[in-house]
Amino acid sequence: MKITEEKGEIIFMILQGGQVKYLRFEDWNWPWLIHGFSTRWGGSSPKEYRQLNMAGREDNPSNIRKNRALFLREIGLINPRIFMGEQVHGTEIKLVSKGSSPIKKDTDGLLTRESKNVLMAFFADCVPLFLVVPELKTVGIIHAGWKGTAKKIAFSAVEILCRNFEIEPDKIQVGLGPSIGSCCYEVGDEVAGEFSEKEIISRPGNKKYFLDLTLANIIQLEDAGVPSANIGRSGFCTSCNPHLFYSHRRDRGKTGRMAGLIAII
Ligand SMILES: [Zn+2]
Repeated sequence: MKITEEKGEIIFMILQGGQVKYLRFEDWNWPWLIHGFSTRWGGSSPKEYRQLNMAGREDNPSNIRKNRALFLREIGLINPRIFMGEQVHGTEIKLVSKGSSPIKKDTDGLLTRESKNVLMAFFADCVPLFLVVPELKTVGIIHAGWKGTAKKIAFSAVEILCRNFEIEPDKIQVGLGPSIGSCCYEVGDEVAGEFSEKEIISRPGNKKYFLDLTLANIIQLEDAGVPSANIGRSGFCTSCNPHLFYSHRRDRGKTGRMAGLIAII
């Protein structure tokens, strides 16, 4: 196992908002698109969930409700129709339409072609993949932790878009939001064994393995035919930035969640 260079075009995300701050991809300026990734700034959750916790069973549900409402208002969505997946670390990706149930069972990826369907997913180290097909005005969001990444959910997402909508992969734009970086994501032999040499960084001498989850997803996207020029990454490690992000690994499980959101106006 060896140290590799990071692949993919870098598009940094920029911080926006008033009291509630969120990140968006700087170059994603289609007028019909709304997207963002929440930070922990500007909400009302206490203690380890401070401030803008967006999900989880431990924090008070009324805090989460208030925090979601603040984020949605900040991003410009009033009375939105929200859809979420159960997020089970699988590979199921579902197409959402107006009449769909708001919570999709056994689902880690959501796509929609209709306006005013707001797709949301929650993260605290796993990779958020934001998908846009500008020509078709189609959007999606994927939750990819190590399990979903090992099962190639990003590759599946490209296949599904191409098959269902009869497009080529070069029509798809993908943004990878903040997730745990290889700087902080030590994994055991079992997890390391699920990935290729390119995706694992070993620190010679101490026999430790560090997984680059973002790179693993970028490799899948490229293997599926998405040109690297269409792929952007945030440049943020969730574990290295406690003032901005919750991190499941850093906070040893007792932490909140950020939300990724994408919609067509
Ligand atoms: Zn880090």
